[in-house]
Amino acid sequence: MGSFDPAMRRTILRRATVLGTAIVAGCLDSEGDADEPVGNGADDAVENGAVTFVYDDGPVEDVEIALPAHEKYDVPASAGSVSNWMESNDDQWLDTDGVATLSDAGWEIACHTADHVALTSFELVEDVEPGDSRIYPEGRGQHGFVTGHPIEVTDGETVLRRTIVASDDDEIGRYFTLDEPIDESFAAGETVERYPSDFVRQQLETSIDALSEFDPTTFLAPHNVIDDRHIDIVSDYYDGIFNVHSGDPANEVPFDPFDTNRSYFAERVDRNEVYDDLERIADENLYGILGAHTYRDAVTRERIEETLEWCAELGIEVLTFEDAISRNAVE
Ligand SMILES: [Zn+2]
Repeated sequence: MGSFDPAMRRTILRRATVLGTAIVAGCLDSEGDADEPVGNGADDAVENGAVTFVYDDGPVEDVEIALPAHEKYDVPASAGSVSNWMESNDDQWLDTDGVATLSDAGWEIACHTADHVALTSFELVEDVEPGDSRIYPEGRGQHGFVTGHPIEVTDGETVLRRTIVASDDDEIGRYFTLDEPIDESFAAGETVERYPSDFVRQQLETSIDALSEFDPTTFLAPHNVIDDRHIDIVSDYYDGIFNVHSGDPANEVPFDPFDTNRSYFAERVDRNEVYDDLERIADENLYGILGAHTYRDAVTRERIEETLEWCAELGIEVLTFEDAISRNAVE
């Protein structure tokens, strides 16, 4: 005998189930009431895993590319909107009407902060001496900042608040220039730079106001980073965070909505690995979160449709994160 292909087994089982339903309904119910649950009353229990697709940042391509792909398969998605970009009159980003187009199509609208700020803490790689007005936060260069935003420098005991007035790179790395010198000593490796909590709350609340008509209940972390301090703050406002960890899409069920895994499915990934991940989600009945930026070249309508086709083939349900969270709560 040759090796048995699990995908084939699933297909056979699914066809048998569909056929069985039709036969039973046809034999036992001459009125043809095929709506009655048949068999062991599985109702809408997920048996081949479930997946949420989430699109980042609210670009116009979400409506132009992703929406028609999802409509073709009649499944929703989630979109993480940066509210100040939505209100910027920049035709790169969906405005409120554009976001409403997604919401009206059954999509979930998630908060992605007001200004796309990275909600984590960055360790300083250089000591700070009294009088210094430069700090060197490791990794901040890849994770964004906005001149004029406040930050705080803290070693866990002392907290100093300053405003970022400029930034550049030198031989040590990316640095911030602050509006006033630091008048304390801080040791590299024991000190972080982060947004003050009132600023973080303002980012979340501004976004909530701007998106109020869409009732966002979930949060997409900008730059794929978030630490425990910020998870605590976000949990005061939202029921879950899509992307606490990056690289693997799969989550055991039931999952912790504040300890989720997400990976990309079109950009920066191997296509075959995406299929393998979906097979694993179907085989092990997991919950997957797949993300994409529709303005990136690798993210095409064809690629989205192909991935949705794989979900259909594997019998994986596609639903929003908020629906996954509410279903999760009753499991
Ligand atoms: Zn983003």
